[in-house]
Amino acid sequence: MQDDDRRLNPGTRLVTAGRPELVAGRGIVNPPVWRASTILYESVAELRAGTRKPDDGLYYGRRGTPTQWSLADALTELEPGAEGTLLFPSGVAAVTSVLLSLLSPGDELLMVDSAYEPTRAVCNGMLKRFGVTTRYYDPLIGAGIAELIGDKTRVIFLESPGSLTFEVQDVPAIAAVAREHGIATVIDNTWATPLLFPALGHGVDISILACTKYIVGHSDVMMGSATAGPAHYPALRRTAMSLGQCVSPDDAYLAARGLRTLGVRMRQHEEGGLAVARWLAEQPQVARVLHPALPDCPGHEYWRRDFAGASGLFGIVLDGGDDAARAALIDGLDLFGIGFSWGGYESLALPVDPAGLRSATTWQADGPVVRFHIGIEDPADLIADLERGLARFESARHRRS
Ligand SMILES: *Cc1c(COP(=O)(O)O)cnc(C)c1O
Repeated sequence: MQDDDRRLNPGTRLVTAGRPELVAGRGIVNPPVWRASTILYESVAELRAGTRKPDDGLYYGRRGTPTQWSLADALTELEPGAEGTLLFPSGVAAVTSVLLSLLSPGDELLMVDSAYEPTRAVCNGMLKRFGVTTRYYDPLIGAGIAELIGDKTRVIFLESPGSLTFEVQDVPAIAAVAREHGIATVIDNTWATPLLFPALGHGVDISILACTKYIVGHSDVMMGSATAGPAHYPALRRTAMSLGQCVSPDDAYLAARGLRTLGVRMRQHEEGGLAVARWLAEQPQVARVLHPALPDCPGHEYWRRDFAGASGLFGIVLDGGDDAARAALIDGLDLFGIGFSWGGYESLALPVDPAGLRSATTWQADGPVVRFHIGIEDPADLIADLERGLARFESARHRRS
């Protein structure tokens, strides 16, 4: 990559990053899909030379082809300060591989209490079995994290904002404390992507994306990535190779295709998400809106200070009502799908129950939580749909009280 490329604005880098070079003065816009397991050599001598330098060009399908490298390079170019990016078959595979690359038996991990549920499951299951202790911390702890650091602490894991309850963390403060103590920091940056929050630039060592969400952007591919600076990239690469992590060239092609339009999609997700969130904030059935760009969201001040914008995922706390009243709201929505994942072009609504997913903090709220992903539809249509939904919630709530 040219150093000059990193001086371009992020919106331009989305277009230029990782693109194929001209061959003999001619070229195509996108990299071809190179499907391969076996790579053929001209001679035994060439094969042996290849074995000595397996990272130098085509070697074996598991190590990728120009299709996957193009996507990995593009993600690296979006993170100033990054050395390289590894691709994984899912976001969870990226989380697990990064943690395995940094932790050994006897080590301690500090994990944010608002973490994505499967991330907690990795800590409480596999890592525990391997002798790694996890201590959960309050997402709003900031520089106070220093008090939790012990002799055995090796990694601090952040997720900002949390993808269920949306607390925004003071990432630079936590990263600075970690650096002082020689502790690695990892962030799950799926909500913002490097476009809205270049995590390495804010002092984090490794930035993970569930590319499944906004990078792919069309709800049709599972993928994860981890982008690291020079201090952590080599070990991460060795771990990923030991675990046999790789992605198909077809999936890499789709993810790269999604990446090119990330900028325009994010602007639409932000605009639509804010229009819907602001409308919801004024409805009597809504106790609180948990949107990082709105003042009611814990850590909103850090969002204002550190982020270049908002994506389309946020939550609301309903004012009273039970699970059935919440279901009455969600079930009848015409334009919102009911399902896991998010980051596609379409809107989604999901019941969320954070209380059982906490150990360092407690979740208290006036009513049940609904998480919305706002797609790129016209927000006026989404609002009309939600207006009918809140009316259903209202009558279900009254029937019961
Ligand atoms: C979806 C998600 C993941 C996991 O990604 P998968 O590709 O579904 O495995 C990790 N972190 C966050 C915040 C997510 O939303």
